Amino acid sequence: MEIKKEKAKILKKIKETKSLKELDEVFKEAQNEIKNFTQKLKKLSLKQRKKFGKEINELKEKLEKEYRAKKQVLQEKTKEKKEFFDVTAPGKKIELGSFHPITLVKNRAEEIFQSLGFEIILGPEIEDEWHNFDALNIPPDHPARDVLSLGKTFYLEEKKLMRSHTSSVQIRYMEKNNPPLKIVAPGKVFRKDAIDATHEIEFWQLEGLMVDKKISVANFKAIMEEFLKRFFEKEMKIRLRPSYFPFTEPSFEVDISCVICGGKGCQTCKESGWIEAGGAGMVHPQVFRNCKIDPKEWQGFAFGMGLTRLTMLKYKIPDIRYFHSGDLRFLKQF
Ligand SMILES: [Zn+2]
Repeated sequence: MEIKKEKAKILKKIKETKSLKELDEVFKEAQNEIKNFTQKLKKLSLKQRKKFGKEINELKEKLEKEYRAKKQVLQEKTKEKKEFFDVTAPGKKIELGSFHPITLVKNRAEEIFQSLGFEIILGPEIEDEWHNFDALNIPPDHPARDVLSLGKTFYLEEKKLMRSHTSSVQIRYMEKNNPPLKIVAPGKVFRKDAIDATHEIEFWQLEGLMVDKKISVANFKAIMEEFLKRFFEKEMKIRLRPSYFPFTEPSFEVDISCVICGGKGCQTCKESGWIEAGGAGMVHPQVFRNCKIDPKEWQGFAFGMGLTRLTMLKYKIPDIRYFHSGDLRFLKQF
C-alpha cells in the first residue's frame, strides 16, 4: 500500500486549494481514500496490519490537522474580502420619509401669514383654566367647562387641562405684549369627541389675532380672502354668518366657497355651495381688559381655523381618521 505517496499527494492538494468549497471537496476525497486503505487492511497479515494501521491513523490525523489550518486561512481571506470597501460601488438607496400632510399645510399657512406681516407664536398644549376659559370670557357654567360628562375638555390633575382651542395663545401673548399685535398661532387642540369620519379627539387649529387702533371686520375679510386665494391657489369667496363666541363681539362663522364644486353644490358642501372654515369676530372688550389692554384705545379681530379641515379640503381627504392611522400607503402620497 502506498500510503506515504498518497499522504504527500493529499497534503499537496490541500495546500493548493483556493476556496472553502474546493477544500471541502479535497477533504472528502481524502477521507474516501483512507476508507479504501482501511478496507484493504483486512486482507493483510497481522504484522502488516499493525504497520499499515499505524500509518493510516497518522495520515488521518495529519489530514484533519491540515484541513482545519487551511480552512482557517481561507475563512480569514473571505472575511477580508467582505470588509474591503469599494468607494466606486454604487451606494445603497436611503429611504427618505416625507412630511405629514398636516405639516405641509401648517408650513404653507405659516408662510402665507408671515408674508402678510404676521408673527408665528406657539403656546403650551397643557393649559390652565384661566388661559383656556376665564380670560376668554368663558364663564364657569359654560358647557365646555363641564368636568364630568357634558363638556368636551380633557381635564388633568390640579385643574390643568388639554387646551380645547388655540385661543389660549392669544391670551398668553396679549398678557406679555403691548399692541399693535399681529400673530398667528398654529397647534394641536384636544376635545372629548366620538371619533368618526369628521371628528377626532386631537386635531390642528390655526389661531389669528390682529390688534391696532383702527381694525375692522373689513380688514379681517381682506386678510382672509388673500390667505385663502394663496392657499388654494384660486379665487375664493368667503361668507360671514352671525354667530356667538364668548370672546368676540360681534362673532361670525366663516364659510368659504366649496373647493370641490366651486359653489354649484355637491355632496361635500351638502348642496349649499359653502363650506365652514372657522370662526372669527372682533375681540371682546372684556378679553382686552383681562389682558390689561384698554379696549377704548385698541381694537382687533381674532379667528380660529381648522388646519386639519383645511388639509382635508386641500388634498380632498374624505376621512379624518387617515391622519393618525400611520398607514404608509396614505402618507406616501404626500
Ligand atoms: Zn360643493
